[in-house]
Amino acid sequence: MDHRPGYAIVIADAHDPEGNPHPLAPRSVLAAQIERCRAVGVDPVVATELEFYLCTPDWEPVQHHIQYSSVTDGLALEPVLHAMREALLGAGIEVESSNAEYGPGQIEINAGPADAMTTADNTAVFKSIVKQVAVQHGLRATFMPKPWAEQSGSGMHVHTSLVDDGGANTFADSDGAPNELMRAWLGGIVDHASALTLLGSPTSNGPKRIRPYTFAPTHIHWGLDNRTVLARCVVEAGSPANRVEFRSAGSDANPYLIIAGVLAAGVDGLERGVDPGPMSEGDMYTNPGDCVALPTDLAGVIEAYDGSPLAEQLGKTFSASYASIARAEVALAAEHSPEPDEVTDWERARFIEHC
Ligand code: GLU
Ligand code: MG
Repeated sequence: MDHRPGYAIVIADAHDPEGNPHPLAPRSVLAAQIERCRAVGVDPVVATELEFYLCTPDWEPVQHHIQYSSVTDGLALEPVLHAMREALLGAGIEVESSNAEYGPGQIEINAGPADAMTTADNTAVFKSIVKQVAVQHGLRATFMPKPWAEQSGSGMHVHTSLVDDGGANTFADSDGAPNELMRAWLGGIVDHASALTLLGSPTSNGPKRIRPYTFAPTHIHWGLDNRTVLARCVVEAGSPANRVEFRSAGSDANPYLIIAGVLAAGVDGLERGVDPGPMSEGDMYTNPGDCVALPTDLAGVIEAYDGSPLAEQLGKTFSASYASIARAEVALAAEHSPEPDEVTDWERARFIEHC
């Protein structure tokens, strides 16, 4: 690793004593869903888009005002952001851009797309590099999804497309609207969106991001270039970059599990030919119409997952274990941080360093 000469990260699979993929290992869960996609003749291409806050060593944001995409203010943070981009590039992660996000000290660095497992591995490495380089610069970085109730949350948007045997994007001929294959993929994602929330927001803090006018979706809907919807479709005639952006996961999501969930939902849409329903347009916070609301606290998130077809598809052993860990989080939060719209010091102490 360029930022730590002589240091390497090795990512391994876990197996049970008989040599089978371990059912609780996130990499096994993702591998099974990649196989499922291949069995229907497509290979997923995935990019994650991560936001994080840059903080002082005592976890205060490094800046006190919002400077979204500012061309002047960004300069102050450039030494550390430059070092992060260089370290990511040095680890083989293709960096496309970085910019100031809509929160004081909030940053987004975009990595390019790759096959699903590479992106999941890269996302885990990305988070580790960003945090280490922040420390090397006397700062801290947090991927806690909602560190402060009054500021923007941090998301992990998951972009997916499907390539055929020849490596061509099967969504490329979508022209102003998703083509048939993309509609079915999108249909699956929309259909399983409530259950997906547990994979995207697995702690008591994550669902607090799901609030109006935060650019995190509050309801289940899809649209074109609209950042208030849950599934945003990029559909330019002939574009190899056509894709579905799933916008509800928080930056603390386990990348293997949220990608596995999105792939499971999408491929289920392909297998069943699910129709995503009508497209939504305009401000979907004020006018969600009859779109279904996402759960807004962890208890509701677990309820949407437990016993769902998605939980079954990701594996019974995995899902039972995963939901039981989340239930323990609900119990802890009920004791220490019961208000749904407050982010307490207890919560920050529990998550800010570890997310
Ligand atoms: N920060 C927003 C979120 O929590 C996303 C902002 C954006 O559209 O990039 O998901
Ligand atoms: Mg963003």
